Amino acid sequence: MRVKTENLQRELDQLKAQIGTLEKSLAEKPEYGLGTGAPAVTRWEMDHALLHQLKARKEKIEKRLSQEIDGGYGLCAQCGKPIHTDRLAVLPDARLCINCARIDSER
Ligand SMILES: [Zn+2]
Repeated sequence: MRVKTENLQRELDQLKAQIGTLEKSLAEKPEYGLGTGAPAVTRWEMDHALLHQLKARKEKIEKRLSQEIDGGYGLCAQCGKPIHTDRLAVLPDARLCINCARIDSER
């Protein structure tokens, strides 16, 4: 139980560092050239999309960590059994164990 939170905390720290670096490089938007799809602009747009993803993931992890503080982290909301660590590694905000998630998606 403890280890999982530490992993989340570590990932959160990494995300924050990545977001910080990206925001710095995105602060200066390159000038649009004459043609569309100038490499610098495309790069900027890609970084922007990436930043968006990182922020979304950061929010999920923060939410998960606050749930851990409330208790019940890593437990299935449906059956109350522990959610497998592999599943949590892929989906840090997973609320259902693999079995319940499967039943849920088949409904
Ligand atoms: Zn379950």
